[in-house]
Amino acid sequence: MQPTETSVENSLKQVQCRLERVAEQVGRPVAAIHLLAVSKMQTPESIRQLYQRGQRDFGENYLQEAVDKQQQLADLDIVWHFIGPVQRNKTQEIARSFSWVHSVDRLVVAQRLSAQRPSGMRPLDICIQVNMDGETSKSGCPPQAVAELVAAVIALPQLRLRGLMTLPAPGNTQAFYALAEVLRQLQCTWPQLDSLSMGMSADLEDAVRAGATWVRVGTALFGKRNQREGI
Ligand SMILES: *Cc1c(COP(=O)(O)O)cnc(C)c1O
Repeated sequence: MQPTETSVENSLKQVQCRLERVAEQVGRPVAAIHLLAVSKMQTPESIRQLYQRGQRDFGENYLQEAVDKQQQLADLDIVWHFIGPVQRNKTQEIARSFSWVHSVDRLVVAQRLSAQRPSGMRPLDICIQVNMDGETSKSGCPPQAVAELVAAVIALPQLRLRGLMTLPAPGNTQAFYALAEVLRQLQCTWPQLDSLSMGMSADLEDAVRAGATWVRVGTALFGKRNQREGI
């Protein structure tokens, strides 16, 4: 169902209120917490409505779907973030079409994104996705391998490594604190790392308490989306 303009507006206000409330509770400036609107499976029209309310950052999981929407929304000044699994044969189009990639989890993907980022564009902002659940089936670099990956990625010329991302199993709020600790340790060597991408509709408060700088919110902004494999 297409959300009405007022429902999208109300949802945005509600999410902003949630962020303000928790930021105040933990004494963090709300300006340090960025809202990424996750628009996978949502229509260009819904994106346009949120944009008209001031939202600029949008996250997409599926490349073809994202590129189609980007074409339809080319008149808007949107900052596009790729947050889905990165297949190595899709890196060229991702490197050309996005400002951020939150889901880099292995060196070959980072190397390809750097090599394929057009030289006329500013470096691609990226986060390394870390698997904090210890399930081998899920995407994400294991925490004990992050430092080595960071050291290699930071040398790539057309990438700007910003920090870490995680997508823990529902209810694993401990993962947010653990990821924040991994970042703190990395910052001893690489103080320029400034981003923690974690928290979604259901658990954004926990993520902000733990130090999130990006929360990735879909359902709470757009309503329930049609299910699709792999979500
Ligand atoms: C879908 C998705 C989200 C948003 O989830 P909601 O529960 O709808 O807020 C955030 N991050 C990633 C990586 C996603 O795939």
